[in-house]
Amino acid sequence: MGARFETEKTMKCPICKHGETTAGAATVTLEPGGLTLVVKAVPAQVCDNCGEVYVDEQATAQLLEEAAAAARAGTEINVRHFQTASSS
Ligand SMILES: [Zn+2]
Repeated sequence: MGARFETEKTMKCPICKHGETTAGAATVTLEPGGLTLVVKAVPAQVCDNCGEVYVDEQATAQLLEEAAAAARAGTEINVRHFQTASSS
């Protein structure tokens, strides 16, 4: 209740200034300090013109957390799917 999901929204792409973004999924690669973490199916807005990907703040925070945890675990390369927080 009260949670707001903004993935339905479209916006004008600030990169190419022509395309509009639509909700989709992206593959994000994070490389903090020698670690390579590839996360698939990250919810994101994708520009229909230039293909630029915009990951929302919440997903970005989660990705950074996962990268930090993987780095602590000594992981060098890891490919995973984005874990969507299940609403209860
Ligand atoms: Zn664009």
